[in-house]
Amino acid sequence: MLEEALRTIALSTKGFMPEGEGDALFVAASQACAALPGLPIVEVGSYCGRSTVWLGAVARNFNTVLYAVDHHGGSEENQIGWEWHDPEVVNAEGRIDTLPLFRATMQRAHLSEVVHERVGDSHQIGAAWLQPLALCFIDGGHARDVARGDYLAWAHHVAPGGTLAIHDVFEFAADGGQAPYEEIYQPAIQSKRFVETSRTGSLRVLLRIE
Ligand code: SAH
Ligand code: MG
Repeated sequence: MLEEALRTIALSTKGFMPEGEGDALFVAASQACAALPGLPIVEVGSYCGRSTVWLGAVARNFNTVLYAVDHHGGSEENQIGWEWHDPEVVNAEGRIDTLPLFRATMQRAHLSEVVHERVGDSHQIGAAWLQPLALCFIDGGHARDVARGDYLAWAHHVAPGGTLAIHDVFEFAADGGQAPYEEIYQPAIQSKRFVETSRTGSLRVLLRIE
């Protein structure tokens, strides 16, 4: 379980990770890091660092590192006038910039040394990526092309025996946007390289089997 001091920080950080799903992510990441010692974790979509606290704690516990990938300019649905816009994450130039908030969260949590920020487009960063991963957590943009690009850029970096975790997976349109389900979850299952091992809320945990 995530220690109390870090839980308090995670729950006070802006973002979109419910407590129960953060705890399930923590368990999945701990199992993945135990299975593949030394391999790193990647988080695609960190925003202000809320889910990053759970994953960063796992990286520290297992003596590995977490790469936190985000351009910090917000997803489509975070932009001004959209459903998930928060005026507190807009900078002096009028643009969304969550990087200062992300850094502040990591400092408060004393996780700056194990959490390495990778600021930029997730598809470009994934395309240049070389290291196999114990766990990749995809929680980036929900536009269809963005979600598809994240699957294509990142799923194959998960090492056999490692874990692909996907957030905001909604099987039914009535429950939420379908892009993570149709563009990440389904292709992973259909590839036959991943099997689902647990689900909590909209979090799906898939094990890479080959
Ligand atoms: N995991 C976070 C929520 C992430 S929100 C939490 O626990 O609260 C989604 C994030 O994905 C946003 O911060 C947005 O800037 C980022 N994002 C969206 N599309 C991206 C892309 N193509 N490249 C990099 N980051 C992207
Ligand atoms: Mg999410």
